[in-house]
Order: sequence, then structure tokens, then C-alpha cells
Amino acid sequence: MTPAPVRPNVLRMRPYSPGRPIEEVERERGLTDVIKLASNENPLGGSPKARAAMAEALDKIHLYPDASVFGLSSALANHLDLPKGQIFVGNGSDELLTLIGLAFLSGLEDEIIVGNPSFVRYDSMAELAPCGCVQVPLTADYRLDIPAMIGAITPRTKLVMLANPNNPTGTRVTRQEVDALFAALPEGVTVVLDEAYFEFACDDPGFPNSVENVKQGKPVIGLRTFSKTYGLAGIRVGYGFASPEIAEAIQRVRAPFNVNALAQIGAVAALADKEFISETVRHNRSERDRLMQITTELGLKPVPSAANFVLIDLGRPANPWVEQLLDRGVIVRSGVGLGLPNCMRVSVGTTAEMDRFYAALTEIVKGDTASA
Ligand SMILES: *Cc1c(COP(=O)(O)O)cnc(C)c1O
Repeated sequence: MTPAPVRPNVLRMRPYSPGRPIEEVERERGLTDVIKLASNENPLGGSPKARAAMAEALDKIHLYPDASVFGLSSALANHLDLPKGQIFVGNGSDELLTLIGLAFLSGLEDEIIVGNPSFVRYDSMAELAPCGCVQVPLTADYRLDIPAMIGAITPRTKLVMLANPNNPTGTRVTRQEVDALFAALPEGVTVVLDEAYFEFACDDPGFPNSVENVKQGKPVIGLRTFSKTYGLAGIRVGYGFASPEIAEAIQRVRAPFNVNALAQIGAVAALADKEFISETVRHNRSERDRLMQITTELGLKPVPSAANFVLIDLGRPANPWVEQLLDRGVIVRSGVGLGLPNCMRVSVGTTAEMDRFYAALTEIVKGDTASA
């Protein structure tokens, strides 16, 4: 007797490699005060309003969550100024990517277009379908190459995936570029604007207005998350907005209780925590500026970022430096697995964490120059 074979496309899927856990690095290197600047989490913690609301809601965790996600969808409708029927909520925006794949990708006759490198979960979407995944290299300045992505569209194309700002590069596409993409879009193609870092980037007047694009009836799905600015990565809530037809399709494929009860309550409270969001964005801007400045002074090439992380071109293979940072108790993300072997991605941490990072990095840079 043999069990049912696993689908071949599932066997081909590459596992997601998350940032290394602090505890693992502490165990492995015999350290006690490791810091992690590798997962783009909020260094200020979770929204205090969300934490208080969830603590209070603990009394009710024996009850199933509201399958209609009424409270959170209503709050989001209000926040975005869109009808509730155009909004959908998921177990992180990551789940929403899977649901979009389930709803719109039917097999190898379909293709999605992604930047390379961009968010690795888009590749998993294609592997899971399975469908074709057309990789379009970034421009020399690490930006999504919209003209090239337009050029890659074929009759098989179903989705064009834009992470804006892009992860792992932090660069953003402009309103003009997105408009040019819509102008060139043939029938039957949807643009996914994955705006996981929206709140960090939206003060820029050139930033595309995805909500307006939805209101204009453009074929677009906007995705945002509570994981980054709102500091709620651990409770997994993301949301999307699109036409009523697209939103309805996603509602059909999602599990009824995909967003847990605490997450629903926490997200509603976080959405109203304006003070926390503005403090998060302010802290991020000032520490991101300092990160750009100090790494430039060290002779490295940081890529201007609209998000809460910075990609740094080291001008040499990144892994030895990433290892030396680990020895000093600082976890960053190597670009090697992302196809950027000379780069590392550093999340903006607290001021004290950034000082630790600069001290470690300075030692490493100076050490390297001394031995060279
Ligand atoms: C972090 C991130 C997400 C996933 O966020 P979750 O809501 O935590 O699943 C989605 N897209 C991009 C580009 C990200 O960087």
C-alpha cells in the first residue's frame, strides 16, 4: 500500500525562509542579547490600543469569530471610503495572495508577471496554481521596470504583481508608471498593488492612489496589512480592496473563519490608533535617514527606500558580513537568497538597536579595510 502522491508542483515549491529567530541565533552563537533587523517588524511594538482591546476580548475566545468580519470590514470601509462589499480580509495579506491565486489562476495556460527580485510569495502563488511565472529583472537602480513588465504581457497573462514599495529593495513605482501600465493593459489582466508598506510611503504625492484606481473601475486589487505599520505581524491580518466582482470571488474561496477573533478586534482598534501610526512613521523616517547617511559614510551604497527597511549594496559578497554581524548579535537579511549576492536588507529598528548595528558594521568595515 502506498499513500496518495503529492502533486508534483507542490514538491517543486521552495519553502519560504523567514528571518532567523533570535533564540536560534543566541543558542547557536552562545549570545544573550541578539537583535533582529530582518523581518520589517515594527520596532515600537504593537499598537497600544490594539493590545488593550485584545486583552479585553480574551474573555470571549471560546466563541467562533464573526465569519462575516463585520466590525473590521465596516471600519475598513470607513477608512478607505469604499463600500464594504469591495473589501476582503485575510490571515495576513499573505493568505490573500493564496486566495487571489485560487480565484484567478487555473493552470499552466495562465501566467503571472513579477519583478525579480520582488516579494518571494508571488513565486509560491505561481508554483501552487501551478501557472507560469514571468520574472522581469529590476532596473539598474533596483526599481520595478514597468515598461519591461508591460512588454512581458501576453495573451496568457492574468496578473501583474507590483509590490509597492517593493520588497526587498524598498523602491516604489510612481503614479505615472501605474497609469502607463493601466493604459497598456489588454482585456482580462488584473494588476495587484501589494501595498504592505503603504503608510510609510503614502505622504509622497507621486505615490499611486490604489483606492482611487478601484473607484475608477480599473482592473486592480489593492492589498495592505496590519503587520508592518500597525505592529500586529503576530496576529495575522491583511486586507484587500477591488471591484465588487473580484471581492466576491475572494469571499467565495476563503475559509469562513480565516481571521481569528482577537485579530478582528485588534485590527479595528489599531486602525483607530492614529497616534501610534504617526509615531511609527516619524520614527521610521528619522532612523531610515540615519541608516542611509551612516552606511553611505562607511562607503556602502544604500538604496533610497520608501519602506521600513533599506537594501544596502556592499560592493562585495554579502554573506561573510552577514555572518560577522551574527557573531556580534545582529540579524539582518542576506541578499544571496534574493538574487542580490552583494546586498543585505536591514529593517529599521529602535534607535538603540540601530546604534548596535552601526557599531558592529563599523568594526566589520574597518576590519575588512585593515586586512585588505
Ligand atoms: C510583509 C509583506 C507582506 C505580508 O504581510 P502579512 O500581512 O504579514 O502576510 C505582503 N507583501 C509584502 C511585499 C510584504 O513585504
